[in-house]
Amino acid sequence: MEIYETKSALRAALPDLRAGGTLGLVPTMGYLHEGHLALIRAARASCDRVIASIYVNPTQFGDAEDLAKYPQDTDRDLALLRAECVDAVFLPDPDGMYDPAAQTIVETTELASRLMGALRPGHFRGVATVVTKLFNLVQPERAFFGEKDYQQLLVIRTMVRDLDMAVEITGVPTQREPDGLAMSSRNVRLTPAQRAAAPVIAASLDRAEAMLRSDPQTSVEALAAEIEAHLGSEPLARTESVDIQDAATLADLSGPLAGPAVILLAVRFDPVLLIDQRVVSPA
Ligand code: AMP
Repeated sequence: MEIYETKSALRAALPDLRAGGTLGLVPTMGYLHEGHLALIRAARASCDRVIASIYVNPTQFGDAEDLAKYPQDTDRDLALLRAECVDAVFLPDPDGMYDPAAQTIVETTELASRLMGALRPGHFRGVATVVTKLFNLVQPERAFFGEKDYQQLLVIRTMVRDLDMAVEITGVPTQREPDGLAMSSRNVRLTPAQRAAAPVIAASLDRAEAMLRSDPQTSVEALAAEIEAHLGSEPLARTESVDIQDAATLADLSGPLAGPAVILLAVRFDPVLLIDQRVVSPA
């Protein structure tokens, strides 16, 4: 497994990497878990060469403290990637991605300002900008992203469509702990009591899905109320947002569902913000 720590080293190796057949990119911020490895395995299954990137992107963090606390364990990450037979890793140092005078941004204007984008202003602009840079640097045929970050996946698909980027985007289903908690690098920051309580998030999605199964006419408002009540029953959880939106466009919905919808949850276990999502259909 080759490790490239600078853009110039990556650029120099690119012709060889690309000559090896279809190239798949898995962008990550490191501190890898089974969720990331599911992306790597999906890439491995459909591409001849797989490159992973590890970069904690400062421009997508609103809060400097959140950035400073982001967990890192590069040696462990590299061992995990080696075990998955990844061909190459792009591992720029913290200051290695952006020119100090950088002024260009990529923004999916409408999508980036909604929902999670309203809670974390500038977040999706940071994501779209760094992913564009990674696409330009690596020039992959395919790139892999988790459905867990549902709005992020839509932002990237929209950006690729709007800017005619020659990369095929694959979404990979959310990987979960045995108790249902969506795997996240943030989970290690939970106290034992918070960790024990956190499966309430996935359980509230199960309840909404069961409600819809027993009555496909259940309204969006009733689903949201059920989720809020269930999350509200857990004293350690502070519900930041419950959104039930059109699964393709994230448009607002009301009344009974006419087609697929996505339930997007943001729940704080102070100070850690956890997210989860589920796509549900009336039929
Ligand atoms: P991150 O390192 O948090 O930026 O995540 C890198 C990629 O892994 C993103 O595309 C995430 O959506 C994806 N990812 C993170 N957690 C999971 C999970 N539990 N299941 C599937 N994909 C995930």
